[in-house]
Amino acid sequence: MNSFPKLFIPGPTHVPKSVMEALATPQIGHRTEEISNLIKYIIKGIQKVLYTENNIYLISHAATGLWEMGLRNSVDKGVLHCDNGAFSSKWVKVSQACGYKNKIIEYEWGNGVKVDDIDRQLSTGEYNVLAMVHNETSTGTMSDLEDISNLLSSKYPDVIWLVDAVSSMAGIKVEVDKLGIDFMLSSTQKAWGLPAGFSICSVSEKISKKSESIKNKGYFLDLKVYEKYYNKFQTPSTPSIPHLFGLKHILDLIEDEGLDQRWKRHIEMKDYTMSWAKEKGQTFFAEEGCRSNTITCIKNIQNWDIDKIYNKLLEKGFRMDRGYGKLRGKAFRIAHMGNIFMEDLQEYLHEFEKAMNA
Ligand code: PLP
Repeated sequence: MNSFPKLFIPGPTHVPKSVMEALATPQIGHRTEEISNLIKYIIKGIQKVLYTENNIYLISHAATGLWEMGLRNSVDKGVLHCDNGAFSSKWVKVSQACGYKNKIIEYEWGNGVKVDDIDRQLSTGEYNVLAMVHNETSTGTMSDLEDISNLLSSKYPDVIWLVDAVSSMAGIKVEVDKLGIDFMLSSTQKAWGLPAGFSICSVSEKISKKSESIKNKGYFLDLKVYEKYYNKFQTPSTPSIPHLFGLKHILDLIEDEGLDQRWKRHIEMKDYTMSWAKEKGQTFFAEEGCRSNTITCIKNIQNWDIDKIYNKLLEKGFRMDRGYGKLRGKAFRIAHMGNIFMEDLQEYLHEFEKAMNA
């Protein structure tokens, strides 16, 4: 058995050898001209991927810390959370642990976030922040950002919008400036196709200004501290330099592929996976219109023996997902993002079928 099976789980995702080699570039000093040049290059690249001129902070810890960062730099009155899956629920726990006044709009897993619900709650005037997950990794549910953007710009221009794009950034087109997202966060182990332990956020002028007026936000997650170092193309503390080299490499790959082609590739892989599942008589966990481009969550109405398939695939050198938490066995996910291309997906689904029929 291969002790390092190819990953088709929704994070960490597959990291090919060429990317691993970039991560093994020799270390450089973190207060040098070399690192500033590297960071400048990366920031430009990420701004292009996110269609934004916002500041981009490069952060050497998991995205979970950015949930807290977003909140600590924005909440004064209270925060409105949209909870439609495991990760949005965890974000709620973070804001509760920080002691913020919050309201939770709860959805059944598999449902997308709805603009009317947000409107109803924001109209109370009790919340100055909206927090939501764009692509719920637990269920493969992608919410529409455009209607929410229109609502916020027309009726609630002062509300600060925090968006978790952990499993969509670099895999799904999100135009940050056009949408007016104030804080968008991701980690690197999903569609960026790098190892975990590093994260990225885009930060608008609006949240940055708000941060100035907030007291007791600590030091480590303070956007104003990041800003000070950002102006020198550095980071407040010693960064994970391997991740920086890895990011540079991935950005070069993205440049070679072309952004439009990258978005198209992810949509094509989604369509392929969905047709494959439909043909086998399965359905989908996420509601129609909210099915993710990076993860397909298949509702196992055919009662396939998921553990058997999992073990057979492992013998063949592939790691499959068996379903998140309470969904295990009932709905499983196929991740098609980052360094996974159509040929990889086709090979995986071919092996999947063999495992099923074994
Ligand atoms: N948000 C979403 C949507 C996720 O899928 C995950 C991890 O899977 C996280 C946040 C947490 O990311 P990290 O493990 O980098 O803290």
